[in-house]
Amino acid sequence: MTHEGSGSQALPESMQHPLASAIARPQSATFVARAGQPDPIVTPPSAPPLYLTTAFDLEDLDQLEEIGRGVQHGFIYTRDGNPNQEALARDLAWLEGAERGVVTASGMGALTAILSAHLRPGDQILASRGLYGRSDQLLRHWADHAGIVVRHVDVHNLDEVRRAVHPGVKMCLVESVSNPLVEVADLPALVEILRDVPLVVDNTFATPCLLQPCRWGATLVWHSGSKYLNGHGDVMLGAVVGRAQPIRAIRHVVALAGLNSNPFESWLVSRGLRTLSLRMQRVSETAERLAQFLQHQPGVVRVCYPSLPSQRTAAVAQRLLTQGHGGMLAFEVEGGRARVNHLFRRWRQSLPFSPTLADARTTVSHPYDTSHKFLPVEERLALGITPGLIRLSVGLEDPRDLEHELASALAA
Ligand SMILES: *Cc1c(COP(=O)(O)O)cnc(C)c1O
Repeated sequence: MTHEGSGSQALPESMQHPLASAIARPQSATFVARAGQPDPIVTPPSAPPLYLTTAFDLEDLDQLEEIGRGVQHGFIYTRDGNPNQEALARDLAWLEGAERGVVTASGMGALTAILSAHLRPGDQILASRGLYGRSDQLLRHWADHAGIVVRHVDVHNLDEVRRAVHPGVKMCLVESVSNPLVEVADLPALVEILRDVPLVVDNTFATPCLLQPCRWGATLVWHSGSKYLNGHGDVMLGAVVGRAQPIRAIRHVVALAGLNSNPFESWLVSRGLRTLSLRMQRVSETAERLAQFLQHQPGVVRVCYPSLPSQRTAAVAQRLLTQGHGGMLAFEVEGGRARVNHLFRRWRQSLPFSPTLADARTTVSHPYDTSHKFLPVEERLALGITPGLIRLSVGLEDPRDLEHELASALAA
């Protein structure tokens, strides 16, 4: 390259700004308003790019129409669809053995979309007794405001389910692994009893790495992606997957009601998903070990973990959870609330009290006063959610450290 001459000579083409030929005055408001356009690249990024964009530029009206009709693959407006949301929805559907998926602003957004898309006033639904507290609260809200009739059943008692199924029932809601007592729903038996009634499964605790409800005949599966799918405790997101037809109706409601997730959080969950199988394997191993360990600690009167023979669904767990039993366990200590308070203070630096789960670090929670506090006291107690019950969300730490931290506080 020669360096003759000087002054405002044109830059070599490789150094031209991509907007230079389109804008007459580069140091102008016009230029600023159009900033940020990437160069076309022949080497695609190794990690997925983040599409923080409200909308997508369209060639003409024909293209708008063809994308709208699904003839061309493209995007129009992020509330209706965005590459980061779509990549995550497609990966999740694939992992769950489902046909299609959609991501939502949170797990609660996912449940809202399912109910809005598929229920009408007067419809009846069967719901597992003791669902995640907010799910149950949302059902009660729908019962009060939209005329849905909610009937609670013990889904682990198949005779009770059999008696509750009749023609007015439009949907049955269960958790694959329940919160917080980690009971495992017998999905194939439920599908057989329900026949044409869609089974809708909250698969948050199991994740598709341990259980794929669609493979057992569930119609829809939903997640709080804020938990294991992301796995790093820094996101709010939800998802629904299932057969194409019911998902189409849910996608419509998501776009209509603005229940969509945003591109950044979808991107983060896609990032988390890449380590999901490793994390689920690790937390399952550690939790299994801690469940055994806790049974022998002073003042511990009950331990709930899917594989323990004391669980009434232990045989179901053995059949359905063949890849591991997950990272959630619950245990009850003598001394109720005061004792729990004392333990939580001791664990502040090691096993923090945090009303969420599935972080990379181990956290403890108190279902009686957090996830299930909306249930009347008698119902909580009848379910076995007592003031002394502690839920442990097992993380990725060295299990020996966790044993030490648990034991030293429990012995004190
Ligand atoms: C957290 C949670 C939800 C709700 O999901 P959000 O993302 O918090 O809205 C639903 N079900 C279960 C089992 C959960 O743990």
